[in-house]
This record gives sequence, structure tokens and C-alpha cells, in this order.
Amino acid sequence: MKNLAPLKRYGQNFLVDQNISKKIIESALIEKEDLILEIGPGKGALTKYLVKLPNDYFGIEVDRGLYDLLCKEFEKDLALCGKKIILADVLETDLGFIEKKVNVISNLPYNIASLIIVKMIKENIYLKSMTLMIQKEMSQRLFAMPGAKEYGRLSVLVQNFFEGSIIFEVKESCFYPKPKVRSVVIRLIPKSDFYEKRLYFIDFENFLKRVFSQPRKIIKNVLTEKYIRIFSETNTDLLHLRPEQIDPETYWRIFRLSKERTL
Ligand code: SAM
Repeated sequence: MKNLAPLKRYGQNFLVDQNISKKIIESALIEKEDLILEIGPGKGALTKYLVKLPNDYFGIEVDRGLYDLLCKEFEKDLALCGKKIILADVLETDLGFIEKKVNVISNLPYNIASLIIVKMIKENIYLKSMTLMIQKEMSQRLFAMPGAKEYGRLSVLVQNFFEGSIIFEVKESCFYPKPKVRSVVIRLIPKSDFYEKRLYFIDFENFLKRVFSQPRKIIKNVLTEKYIRIFSETNTDLLHLRPEQIDPETYWRIFRLSKERTL
């Protein structure tokens, strides 16, 4: 594919090691009824394999230069029914029209990776699985345990919605240009109560924003009366903990109780 200078603002570090492309695709547990959603096909490192599969394929690329190249390179594949690349910002794209099970496979732009993960929770689609290349540091935040220094709002959110794991690390030399950070491929599979929880996503996120707004303070000094009462009914010890010491399930339990009280 023609050479375009990589754009930093779009997080463009292109995968150049084909073995890694194949390994990511093998890890994605693609089944024949899945629609493959690729965020940021870039220069096509994953796309060239994904569009050859019998599955429906939907790619979203924000960079016009790359979009034009992709359309030219994969013209024949994209002429087939069910395969398409659009020029758009994924964060502003409504995916609710997709009716099939969505299998997201992407080497994400690292600068907006957390926004994309959160968007995929909220989106009105049947999300089956996400296999994502992200910054290693971000994976440590996603999967951190309570008490760890990386544990925060994002850990609580993601661990409530997904079973997640790191599948493998990817060396800097597998990209052009080489990123300054380390990379890993992760898999996120929605938990069985994903769709029920999703109905409350915005309120839950706001609740967590409030809790984690002052991470150094104990819970009792951060929350309103209503929540303090629920925390103390659940377990009085919780009130004396700092937000980073409480596990994801407990946050969800308390949030749900608060919802039941307001019904
Ligand atoms: N998939 C390619 C690969 O593995 O080599 C490119 C990966 S590169 C890390 C991230 C890609 O996401 C780039 O092609 C970039 O232009 C695209 N991108 C960045 N921000 C985006 C956005 N908001 N919406 C859609 N694509 C975006």
C-alpha cells in the first residue's frame, strides 16, 4: 500500500508484522454469523485477512488518505455484499443499525482507546467479543484489582461489564513507526448480565465519577446521605475505605440498591 506519513493525532502506529496480524485474528474466535467490526483499518494490516473471510465486515477509518487507499486496495472485496468501509470518526458513529452479532477486532488508536471501549458498552448492538490491541499501561488499568495503584473508575466499569484477559504482548518492532509505549492484545467478552447493566450505564458511570472524584478521601466524606445509608446498610466498614479499596461488584450492588430506593 502507498506510503502516507503516519499522523500522530490519529494514533497511527501501523502493524507491519504479518504473524501478529494472523495471531490477532486467530485469537478473535470468529464464528460464521459474526459481523466483524474493525476500528481504524489504517493500511490494512488486519483488513487484508478480515475481508477475505466469509463474514460481513464493517470498517471505520477517520483518515481520508487511508480511507481512499483502503477503498482502492480492497475494491474487489468491498464490492461484495456485506463488506464495507466508511470514512468516519468511530466516536461519532451510531452503530445501532447493525443487526448481527458484532465481533470487534482492532488495533486501536491508543489516545482514544478507553473512549472507544466505553462507547462499545453503550452502543445499542449485540456485542459478542472484542479483541483489541491497546497500550500495556491501559490494560493494567482495565484489569487492576482493588488496592492496586492502577485501580480506578475504568477498572470498575470494565470489570462489571466484561470478562477480560491479556492474550499476548506485542513488541515495539512489530510497528511502524515504533510506539514509545508497550502494547498488548486483550480480549473482552460481555458478562451474562451485560445487557441488563447496560440499561443503567449512564447513571452508573456518573455514580463512579462522583465516587472517584476524590480518591484520597474515605467514602463517607465523598457521597450524599442516600449513598452513605446504603453503604452502611451493606457493610459499615465500607464507609471508612477509600474508593480504590472497594471491589467492582460491591459498587454495582450499591448502585442497584440506590436505584431500587428511588423507584
Ligand atoms: N489497523 C491498522 C494496523 O493495525 O496497522 C492501524 C492501527 S493504528 C494504531 C489506528 C488507526 O485508527 C489508524 O488508521 C487511525 O487513522 C485510525 N483512527 C484514529 N482515530 C480514529 C477514529 N476516531 N475513528 C476511526 N478511526 C480512527
